[in-house]
Amino acid sequence: MAGRHVARPVVKLGLGAEEIYGAKGREIKRFPEKKMAFKKVSEELGRPWFEVWSRNMLSQYRESRIGKDVSVSSPLEARSHIALWVGAATWNRLTQPYGEGHENMGFLSWTPLNVPPPFRGSPEPDPDPEALTQKVKQMARFLGANRVGIAKLNRKWIFEETCRNIYSPGEPKTKKIVFREMDAPEETETELVIPDKVRFAVVTIFDLNRVLTRIGSASIDTSVATNIGYSRMGLGDVALAEAIRTLGYTAIPCKNGVGLSIPMAIDAGLGQLGRNGLLITPDFGASVRIGKVLTDMPLIPDKPIDFGVTEFCESCMRCAKTCEVEAISFGEKTCDPPLETGNPGALKWYVNGKACLNYWIESGASCTACQAACPFTQSRYETLPPSAVWETEVSLPFGIEG
Ligand code: SF4
Ligand code: SF4
Repeated sequence: MAGRHVARPVVKLGLGAEEIYGAKGREIKRFPEKKMAFKKVSEELGRPWFEVWSRNMLSQYRESRIGKDVSVSSPLEARSHIALWVGAATWNRLTQPYGEGHENMGFLSWTPLNVPPPFRGSPEPDPDPEALTQKVKQMARFLGANRVGIAKLNRKWIFEETCRNIYSPGEPKTKKIVFREMDAPEETETELVIPDKVRFAVVTIFDLNRVLTRIGSASIDTSVATNIGYSRMGLGDVALAEAIRTLGYTAIPCKNGVGLSIPMAIDAGLGQLGRNGLLITPDFGASVRIGKVLTDMPLIPDKPIDFGVTEFCESCMRCAKTCEVEAISFGEKTCDPPLETGNPGALKWYVNGKACLNYWIESGASCTACQAACPFTQSRYETLPPSAVWETEVSLPFGIEG
């Protein structure tokens, strides 16, 4: 039944991601960053994966291409797309690129950056969790998130350790991420310490540009879309962390780092897991990036939702058919990933992370084909009124025929 997704009512569930996707007799363990595809592929290449990616991007530009199969009229035209990508990546880079491997670095600091000293670590007495929940959600929206939800923090989603050389080959440089009874987060030579009192994640959704994500399966323009998403996430979530600290609480902005974003987003009621291994949201389908800020602020957690994604994915297969490197499974859900880059124990469709990343590298661009092809994303293209999202004002980029 691969076809249009028909919107269904959102059903609230009482379970967390661990109960929904956990399998009987199997344990989900904390995942170490050193097993991420970025690290594993860099090890196999013997050089940073991004170096090879960039080399391919540059050779395509000289041949007037902005992806393996996307031609433009001239090298100047191709260079203009690269220029847009460099611009789009600026705030992603300045707020610690993507976040993984960059915990507690620069703007992703776990301690206050610019909070007036009288407010640091001194919340108002008798906090009202309901009022604080409403306020933190409002602040997240004002600061740039399209959607926000609160998850009760499941420590299983926190990485077992960070990997400081995540994009490079060589022996992993790791630091354990641990929980301990502390007043404030701390980093030592060997550990990143999260205070025990940090019990919630404020999970933020940033939607991707609907025009750019559909230009080629992988093109510089799809990379522009993802980088704008990460740049907006960096600006929004770092600002949200500062706002939470000004209310007197601890805040740990993460981007992709610190822990697994998708199960936290599921716990926060923001979507379900798709066959393509991505979070499928009711409003934006799979075309999103997910941020999170961990905090000890007393909050009311949201509940996971069910709007029919799992049942639809059973027969849809559109993402699996779209993927040029067969990184997405056509088979049944399983608890055992095909590679160590997946975290075993959850009953789901695992994606072959290495095949996916190698396709990005070969294309000299990141791929969004499985997001764009998903009927839940497509229904968004068809149903949202033009004024509903900012990016509808953006016309097709220079040199591309619509
Ligand atoms: S799994 Fe990777 S390579 Fe395949 S469609 Fe999705 S992003 Fe592209
Ligand atoms: S994730 Fe894949 S299988 Fe599921 S609805 Fe989207 S395209 Fe279809």
